[in-house]
Amino acid sequence: MSGRRIYINLRYKLSQILNPALCLTCGIPVSADSFICKYCVAALELVPTPCSSCGLPNQTSRNTCPVCQHRPPRWHSMIAPLIYSANTRKIIQDLKFNEQLNNANALLTHILDYYRDHQVDVLIPVPLHTSRLLERGYNQAEEIATTLSRLLDIPVDRKSLKRIKATESQSGLSISKRHKNILKAFQFSPARCYKSAAIIDDIVTTGSTVSEISKVLKRSGIKHIEVWSLARALKHD
Ligand SMILES: [Zn+2]
Ligand SMILES: [Zn+2]
Repeated sequence: MSGRRIYINLRYKLSQILNPALCLTCGIPVSADSFICKYCVAALELVPTPCSSCGLPNQTSRNTCPVCQHRPPRWHSMIAPLIYSANTRKIIQDLKFNEQLNNANALLTHILDYYRDHQVDVLIPVPLHTSRLLERGYNQAEEIATTLSRLLDIPVDRKSLKRIKATESQSGLSISKRHKNILKAFQFSPARCYKSAAIIDDIVTTGSTVSEISKVLKRSGIKHIEVWSLARALKHD
């Protein structure tokens, strides 16, 4: 664990002692073990009838939407229960950029059942490039994977997947530019063979990143790949 990561942990623990627990999104007082008040929990929006492949709303009676039936993604299924908007956006942005590491736990508490029926050998968080990891001090996808691992008793592999290209942020890029930006950005060298794996990320936007990762995981012989994230962006920005 890096020095900065230890510092963030200690600061969080200290703030818990000094400050009363407040709802992460609206700021009203809540009990110490609930991070989000009941009103904001009720306001968390779930993706309605999601496609089991791409996680987007699916109007058909089949499990997968017409787009995925026509062109199936590289992964087998996706779980991204929340719509990336309003409250969810604030909680995830704070997890990602404002060192609010406990926000992963806060959201997962309310959506854990969606992942429970999906059995995989290992959880593989989307890695940051070393330069970004040093700058931020932690990887939000790893925080989510660690929490899921504890709650679902599935091991996490934090070492085998590496981001070998310092890509520019995907945010703000068009779909084709995202695809090009992330191409050949990852390397996967597992110490052991996995039959199945779940790629863990905070949000899925166009799916370019998880698609590129699926490619390298498949090459290693993993037959069943899932994508698990907290939220699905219904449109990219
Ligand atoms: Zn609230
Ligand atoms: Zn689909």
